[in-house]
Amino acid sequence: MTVSARADLRHVDAWLFDIDDTLYPHDNGLMADIRQRIADFLVRLTGKGEDEVKLIQRGWFETHGAALPGLLAEYDLAPHIFLDYVHDLPLHQLSPDAALDAAIARLPGRVLAFTNGSANHAERVLEKLGIAHRFEGIFHIQSGDLTPKPHPATFDRMMAMFGIDPAQTCFFEDSSKNLIHARALSMTTVLVGREDENEAHINYVAPDLTAFLNAASVKETA
Ligand SMILES: [Mg+2]
Repeated sequence: MTVSARADLRHVDAWLFDIDDTLYPHDNGLMADIRQRIADFLVRLTGKGEDEVKLIQRGWFETHGAALPGLLAEYDLAPHIFLDYVHDLPLHQLSPDAALDAAIARLPGRVLAFTNGSANHAERVLEKLGIAHRFEGIFHIQSGDLTPKPHPATFDRMMAMFGIDPAQTCFFEDSSKNLIHARALSMTTVLVGREDENEAHINYVAPDLTAFLNAASVKETA
């Protein structure tokens, strides 16, 4: 693992990005808002208290990687009702990020998103950041048949949909857990927004995504 070094990414021609907490700072409060919306939804659905549903919610994240599969395992519910409710947020924490846009523009090859969020949420976040036009495709929770990362079947489905070679793919994530299977598939893995992780499945750590991208060696284009 190399922290903040000039990464050698000259073998990469597919740039795969998680969205939430990866393409914007993880401490800007947006994910906290989403977790609160999930808790509100569960309080209304179950009639339980907020402390209790937050424990349930945490358990679902641990077990399934997201709240939705846990919810669907225990309650009979149309998934879009949940997804629409929890993502119904103004996204006031986000604004156009011209520096990130320029850093992504420099990357040779395909730029793709791989998120456990809903299709609508993913598109809105990319639009708010002013980088939607850089992305060729988004693999979201509905593309994965509601099975989130890091389930291996969801990685398979994502790679089939995009037609990417994992050995030439670099995956950027704020969740170390989601990088384990990526590395096993021989993707190059970058843990974003942290400085202190030292794990065999992490190739690089990028405390600042834009700075990391700008410093990386990438394939020369003719
Ligand atoms: Mg994330």
